[in-house]
Amino acid sequence: MKIVNTVEQLNAELSNHRQKGIKIGFVPTMGALHAGHLSLVSQAKKKCPVVVCSIFVNPTQFNDKNDLAKYPRTLEKDCQLLQTVACDIVFAPLVEEVYPPNLETKLSLNIGSLTTVLEGEFRPGHFDGMVQVVKRLLDIVQPSHLFMGQKDFQQFTIVQAMINALKLKTKLVVCKTEREKHGLAMSSRNERLLPDHRLRAAIIHKSLLFAKNNLSTLPINKIEQQAIKMLDIQDFKLEYFKIVDGSTLQPVTQVDDHKYIVALVAIWAGEVRLIDNLILKKQGE
Ligand code: AMP
Repeated sequence: MKIVNTVEQLNAELSNHRQKGIKIGFVPTMGALHAGHLSLVSQAKKKCPVVVCSIFVNPTQFNDKNDLAKYPRTLEKDCQLLQTVACDIVFAPLVEEVYPPNLETKLSLNIGSLTTVLEGEFRPGHFDGMVQVVKRLLDIVQPSHLFMGQKDFQQFTIVQAMINALKLKTKLVVCKTEREKHGLAMSSRNERLLPDHRLRAAIIHKSLLFAKNNLSTLPINKIEQQAIKMLDIQDFKLEYFKIVDGSTLQPVTQVDDHKYIVALVAIWAGEVRLIDNLILKKQGE
């Protein structure tokens, strides 16, 4: 496994593969890797002979400076973990490498309300920064396939919209959410949870399963109300629990009017903000 820090070094590693038209898989991460990230790399390895994983804590997507400062950074351990899943190249650039002063990297995309609802409401500017870094990293790595987790549902939905809007050639592959034993979605932030909060955070997945199990029997607003009640527990503070159309991210009222429905939740467990989601309906499933 090669570890590179600059675009020049990365190009030197990839130019041969690019010339031969070998498929390059790309897994962008912010590090502090866990089994969820590693599953993306493993899936990438199945599809692409060469896999690049980037580790870059992107400052432009943090609307909260404190969150950025507290974001865990564990590069050495991350590289050891990536080696266990046969990652080929780790790209761990400095901020100046991703955002050189002489390069305009901001994007303005017309992708409707996808960026302003849900996470967009609570983390203003977050998706502008996310889209900016993903586009910049795609320009640098030039992968044939991009692997992202369903865990960040709105994120991959927006990235797909960006790929469509800019007619990029990279194919997005969405990988299932890896969970801890009791159901909590794996996240780099879980390490910061108090042990008691981590245990009780299992209620998040339970509330999503409740929504899925009752989709055909209870009205949507009742499901949301019940789920909100389930999540009203000590030291936890809910931001949203919403059932929306999986394509538009707009609210659902009649289940039969939609082919694709997803429930999304964001909640603070003490000082730690957690998000999760579950697909409730997808035509053909
Ligand atoms: P992050 O480092 O949190 O920015 O995540 C990098 C990538 O890993 C994103 O595509 C995430 O959706 C994905 N990811 C994060 N957590 C999980 C998980 N529990 N299961 C699968 N993929 C995940």
